[in-house]
Amino acid sequence: MSIAKRINEVTCHLSKDCRLVAVSKFQPIPPLQEAYNCGQRIFGESKVQELVEKEAALPKDIEWHFIGHLQTNKVKYIAPFISVIHSVDSLKLAKEIDKQAQKNSRVIDCLLEVHIAQEESKQGFSIDEIKALMNGKVFSELPNINIVGLMGMASFTDDLESVRKEFRSLSTLFYNLKESVAPQFKELSMGMSNDYIIAMEEGSTLVRIGTYLFGQRNYN
Ligand SMILES: *Cc1c(COP(=O)(O)O)cnc(C)c1O
Repeated sequence: MSIAKRINEVTCHLSKDCRLVAVSKFQPIPPLQEAYNCGQRIFGESKVQELVEKEAALPKDIEWHFIGHLQTNKVKYIAPFISVIHSVDSLKLAKEIDKQAQKNSRVIDCLLEVHIAQEESKQGFSIDEIKALMNGKVFSELPNINIVGLMGMASFTDDLESVRKEFRSLSTLFYNLKESVAPQFKELSMGMSNDYIIAMEEGSTLVRIGTYLFGQRNYN
């Protein structure tokens, strides 16, 4: 199936409150151009250098989302143009994004990454840490970032019920915060190629899909 057909298929499945982030990491320019040509405008990348090169090469009406682990010393390279950073996983990183956004006279939309998977390896804050942060006043002291929601990754498993439970725990946290201390919350980023339908059923507003659209990534 062509990339255009895949994008069309996924987009047809999405509910009206859910948008597709085409995860184009490790893909060369032509597949991104193909996706762009059939109307895709949101792309997700996870490496700063690669993102900077693609941003320079592709049309300016693309909305670039950063979804990988972001090192503080690299924030400055993407601060001029990045639309959303999904993967804020430390206060140190949030402060650096605020500083670089200020230098660029911007306010950058950010999501806090929440650790919802059983697995040890996944990045992110615990649910309790998120509650403490959002109930505190640290973010009110960082005027150049706007915390617009949460991001999480489910366990890599065939047990779809546990995947659903993990997404539901994130969704519950999101809505509880939105109704109490974070009325600005608007994005719940969850769901990848294998689990995006479940994520959407549990309230995702941004699904991040790579392999299903573009095929296997070449990491060499
Ligand atoms: C790579 C990646 C994706 C896309 O995963 P696929 O399984 O290829 O759809 C989504 N989210 C994050 C954070 C990723 O790093």
